[in-house]
Amino acid sequence: MKVVGFAAESVGADLKPWEYTLELSNPHEILVEVEACGICHSDIHMIDNDWRMSTYPLVPGHEVVGRVVELGSAVEGLVVGQRVGIGWQASACMTCHDCLSGNENLCDHHQGLIVAGKGGFASHVKVDGRFAFPFPEALPVEAGPLLCGGVTVYSALRHAGMTSGQRIGVIGLGGLGHLAVLFASRLGNQVTVFTTTAEKTRQAEQLGAAEVVVVEPGQSPPPPRARLDLLLCTVPYPQDWVAYLQWLGADGTLVLVAGGPKPLEIPFWALLGKRRRVMASPIGGRAVLQETLELAARMKVLPQVEVFPLSEVNRALRQVRENAVRFRAVLRAG
Ligand SMILES: [Zn+2]
Ligand SMILES: [Zn+2]
Repeated sequence: MKVVGFAAESVGADLKPWEYTLELSNPHEILVEVEACGICHSDIHMIDNDWRMSTYPLVPGHEVVGRVVELGSAVEGLVVGQRVGIGWQASACMTCHDCLSGNENLCDHHQGLIVAGKGGFASHVKVDGRFAFPFPEALPVEAGPLLCGGVTVYSALRHAGMTSGQRIGVIGLGGLGHLAVLFASRLGNQVTVFTTTAEKTRQAEQLGAAEVVVVEPGQSPPPPRARLDLLLCTVPYPQDWVAYLQWLGADGTLVLVAGGPKPLEIPFWALLGKRRRVMASPIGGRAVLQETLELAARMKVLPQVEVFPLSEVNRALRQVRENAVRFRAVLRAG
């Protein structure tokens, strides 16, 4: 099938229209006609080859919502015309211990949609059908950010022990942070947002935060009203970890979905006294992704997005780079 996408021809380049062919190459694959696709910071890291694994021309886009147009012979549970969502992950080995445990996102052979192939800033996408998820009709097509940003924070909080009735802190109120506030508060938790932007206080409260702590740039975070059970870091910059850890209660967990390149410096004593833990968490497995979508549909966890036509992808990318989008950008086809 002839496909038109937007591709970066070289490191950091503006995207240009590019025609290529997509054909099913194994019986598990499907072709999807893209209706909308979110922009994630990982798209920009890939355009800029920050992780040294980009190949060009590079078609970004891994928060894809669209309709199935072609199915391989081994695909089960999907039909032509069905609306599906596709996130960062395009495939996994499906036979290792992690895959068999429902942790396909932790598979050593896991492949990213825009690392191994071409992404969703295009008319069509090809993916292993086991990594395309029925997209609830109750969700708008602009809710694509649930497929990477949403599942990333939801899975991190779940694996860090989120239930309900807890005190949960969220560092940063951006694309990831606002989704974490929505999920955690909708599930009945008391959410404290730590932000360096005082103007975001009202937005945080509207999203469901019970408390907003404004952190002066370069300063230690002031204490929240009460110690926290979980603290999620969504910003890719070094933080005053010792200060943040002391705001965690007994058995409290600091979980990072973003961290930056520098080693974390955490003294033993900051963990010991209250048996605290530090962990990190990448995207989510298939079961958790399905759960993220179903929960979002049921509890109205709707990403707050700014919508751009796909033809204005470069303007949208510039705004994301300038941190001018609240809170996530989505490209609409057509
Ligand atoms: Zn992403
Ligand atoms: Zn595997």
